[in-house]
Order: sequence, then C-alpha cells, then structure tokens
Amino acid sequence: MNILQECQGASRVAITGHVRPDGDCVGSCLALYQYLRKKMPQAQVRVYLEKPAEIFACVKGFDDIDSQCEDTDPYDVFFVLDSVPERMMEPAGKLFDKARKTINIDHHISNTGTCDVFRVVPEASSTAELIYELIDRESLDADLAMAIYIGIIHDTGVFQYSNTSPRTMEIGADLIRWGFDFPRLILETFYQRTYLQSQVLGRVLLESVRFMDGKCIVSCLDRKIMDFYEVEHADLDGIVNHLRNIKGIHCAVFMYQTGVLEYKVSLRSDEWVDVSKVAAFFGGGGHMRAAGCNMKGTFHDCVNNLSLHIKEQMESRLSVQEDGDRQE
Ligand code: AMP
Ligand code: MN
Repeated sequence: MNILQECQGASRVAITGHVRPDGDCVGSCLALYQYLRKKMPQAQVRVYLEKPAEIFACVKGFDDIDSQCEDTDPYDVFFVLDSVPERMMEPAGKLFDKARKTINIDHHISNTGTCDVFRVVPEASSTAELIYELIDRESLDADLAMAIYIGIIHDTGVFQYSNTSPRTMEIGADLIRWGFDFPRLILETFYQRTYLQSQVLGRVLLESVRFMDGKCIVSCLDRKIMDFYEVEHADLDGIVNHLRNIKGIHCAVFMYQTGVLEYKVSLRSDEWVDVSKVAAFFGGGGHMRAAGCNMKGTFHDCVNNLSLHIKEQMESRLSVQEDGDRQE
C-alpha cells in the first residue's frame, strides 16, 4: 500500500482508531495526521478519537483531536487505524459509512479486513510500526518520530513483549536518532502513575483471586470503587500486566465495570493460552498474548464463561505435555 497514492486527489481525509484509545492508537493516528498534513498541505485532515489520556498531550497534533465528531460532510478517504471499523467511536462510524474510500491499517490477528484497502500485519509489534514502514523516510522529523515511538513502546511494553522483533528494535533505534527525550517519554507515558492510580492498582492486586490451580488470576473493579478513587478507564491501562507478571500465572483477567451488569475485560497470557481466541468468542479480539472484550452479566457469570474457554486451552496443553512425558 502506498498511502499517498491512495489519497491522490483527496481534499478531505479523516483518521480514527478504536474506542478508549491507547498509546499505539493515539501514536499511530497522530503520526499519520502529521504525515498527511506535511505531504498534502492543501487537503483538510481530521483526527477523530475519544479523548485520550492527558499523558499523550506531548504528541504533536494532540490538541487537534476532535472528540465530538459533529461533521456530516463525506470524506474522500477515511482511515481506521489499530482497530476493526466496528470498534470505532460511534459518531465516526456514520462518517465512515459515507466515505468514498476506506482504509484499514492494523496489527490485530482478529482483524479479517473489511475496508476497501487494508493492511493487516499480525506480526507487527504495533500499528505505529506499520505507519513507520508506510511513510517515506525523508518525511520523518522529531515530532513524527516521537509519535511513532510512543505507539511502539506502549504496545511492546517498552520493547519487552514477545511481539518485539529485531525490526522493531531497528525502527526504535532509527527513531531515537531524532533526539527527543525518550527516557522521559517512557517514564511519563508508560511507567508513571498518579497516587490514586497506584492505590487502585494496589487494590486490584489485593482483591485478586487465583483459580485453576493457581495458574490463572482474576480481579475486578466495580463502579463504586472507581468513583471512590476518581479513576476512569484511561487510569487503568497496564494494571492487567501486574497480574500477568505474578509467578506461576499463565493467564490474567482484569475486569472493570462499564455499566449495569457490563464489564470491559482485559486478558493477558503466556504461550499456554491464546487469549485472542477467548476474546473473539465473546465478540472482542486482540492478539495471542493480549486481548480484550466487553461482557454482560454478573462478575461471576463473566468469570465462569471466560474460564470455560481458558480451561479448554489449558487442558489441551496439559494433555500434550503429559503425552510428551509418557513418551520420554
Ligand atoms: P486491552 O486489554 O484493552 O488493553 O487490550 C488488549 C489488546 O486487545 C489491544 O491490542 C486491544 O486493541 C485489543 N482489544 C481490546 N478489546 C478489544 C475488542 N473489544 N475488540 C477487539 N480488540 C480488542
Ligand atoms: Mn495496537
């Protein structure tokens, strides 16, 4: 795919990502926004996203993000990044339906590609990595490099998760040549938590429960507790990783309440469980080691339903292991 060729002759271009935008979503949308503004100065380019966390305010273009999406005129080209179209924020969906051409750039294994043009690469660490590969190198500058870098560090846990490839490291190396303050960026957007966010993390860990012989763990935040600590979904990013990091855990489940009998579920695993399959069964998606979905029912209903699917995968792995032991 050549982004500029796809946008040739376009006078109105829109860019959007998924609901509750994370670092990769914000980074890749703003990187593409900066690139198109630079290469197509005569075109009108807009970014539609739900309000991202303030930690991303350092990325150029952040203040131009439109979270209201009141426009009704059709776009010539409509980009959906880091997401399937179904996971866009509601008002952007109406504009998407009217667009002359739709383009989807993503790295979620669950995305089967339904737009007019799509580039879905599950092996890529992040959508930001794909944006890096799609833009011409001469257009890179410090702001663009920083936007891409943010996307990559957030989806790789700072080059730590198994989605980090040699290519990801090469891209990281090329990006930091631009001289932005990357240690500060990593600290302030990835590791640092406010006092209240840290207290909530403590609470989630304290109230976690292990199941399946201590191989899985679940913890849940209900609305009352979220209101008490005055936290929103953006404050809960990364909590599930702390559950996954516990020794002996192969699958971690973190849930928070989004409505009456409604939860957002985050799943993390190691090679024992492909959580993208578990999430896909419940209408969500993601990657093999990190996925999510929305579920309805009581906390116990949700956990029971999820654990059936997790258990199935665990048991088939254990039986393969036992067969191997017998053969030795
Ligand atoms: P989260 O647990 O929300 O941080 O998400 C983990 C991964 O799964 C991210 O790559 C998300 O983009 C993806 N994901 C989360 N929820 C969904 C969903 N409902 N549908 C598709 N992908 C999702
Ligand atoms: Mn991503």
